[in-house]
Amino acid sequence: MKLAVDLHSHSGYAGGVGQIELTAVSKTMKLKGIDVFGTGDCIFPPRTEELKQELTEVGDGLFALPRDNSKFLLQTEVIFSTKLAHKKNKTIAHHVIFFPNYESIYKMQILMNKWGMKNTIGRPFITSDSQKELENQLFEILNIHPLIEIIPAHVMTPDGILGSKNDLEELIEFYGEFLPKIRAIETGLSADPQMLEKIPDLAELTFISNSDCHSAALNRIGREFTILDVEQVNYKNIIQAIRQNSVIMTAEFNPAEGRYFSTGHRADRKGHSQELIFEDDIPTGLICPICKKKMNLGVRERSTQLQNDSIVPIPRKFMHLIPLIEVIATSQNLKSITSKRVIKLFDIIMNIFPSEIALWQSDSIQVMLDKRVDQKTINQILAVKEGDFKFQPSGFDGTYGKLIIGDNR
Ligand SMILES: [Zn+2]
Ligand SMILES: [Zn+2]
Repeated sequence: MKLAVDLHSHSGYAGGVGQIELTAVSKTMKLKGIDVFGTGDCIFPPRTEELKQELTEVGDGLFALPRDNSKFLLQTEVIFSTKLAHKKNKTIAHHVIFFPNYESIYKMQILMNKWGMKNTIGRPFITSDSQKELENQLFEILNIHPLIEIIPAHVMTPDGILGSKNDLEELIEFYGEFLPKIRAIETGLSADPQMLEKIPDLAELTFISNSDCHSAALNRIGREFTILDVEQVNYKNIIQAIRQNSVIMTAEFNPAEGRYFSTGHRADRKGHSQELIFEDDIPTGLICPICKKKMNLGVRERSTQLQNDSIVPIPRKFMHLIPLIEVIATSQNLKSITSKRVIKLFDIIMNIFPSEIALWQSDSIQVMLDKRVDQKTINQILAVKEGDFKFQPSGFDGTYGKLIIGDNR
């Protein structure tokens, strides 16, 4: 059966956001059509207790609020930081970790204590002084329970394993003997399967896509998601589907929207009065011709560097997506997704389709929405479904790309 999952999120403990109620999360999950959602921050002790209090186990390894059918999976993000012998700077890589039960989370907390790691924020650091030490840490985590899954998060961002800052050639430089235990990667908002499928180290792995959201808003939860093929809805089947690449499709940001897509400098940087974005002909040494400071290499160029054209990619189905609420706002020429008109239209559409994912997968959008929603909104929804949208300029230097839907509509 098809199972829509979004397995990377953050709670109020990850910083920068207020408390996020699980009831609000569940409500948005239903509207979006997300069946299983990663809790976020599950190993941070106050969060662990909060989750334990609010959620009850429903079947093997998944959890839910009382009298509610939205399912949660225990998930955290951890930042591994290590000193590789051949690198001058520390190598830092974000990872998503899934846990089958609270017992394994408590064992994880004991491990972190043993290693002297501060577990005082939603997204903790695990540091080490060498590749070997890191490798041992990873094995120790996996040894807690065979169904714990460790997945490199948003691999191409500056904080991702293959990001330009780390400048690794191969995953083995970081994982060593742990490498065979890495069965999947998260594409992240900055990359899509097409950009990653020809990277030799990734070609055989499962690609999953998650929102990495810090809010229960309609344009955050499920802004990226994965549809898995599972026999039953339980933790074990989800992990097996990930390990065996039983992915039906992923929904992705258009990478050009991502904040690190192109190489360049923003206009508000010191020494700048205008922005500078390079589509190609990137200056040698990445030195910005305006401020003479070094620029971060954009994800587009970084992934091109890593690709090997002789690789024949395995088929991966995916679509580029913009959250429906944003499509509606754009079609109404409104900036805010919380304006009354936008919410009213969203509600009308949600009374016609069981969920947003059901809408995106439907072949009869025009027929279903005809005369109940204005034609401009229908046209823009159809344009997004057909991939007829772009970001100009693309995302760069920490700024999101600017959306243009259906030039010819
Ligand atoms: Zn991260
Ligand atoms: Zn500059």
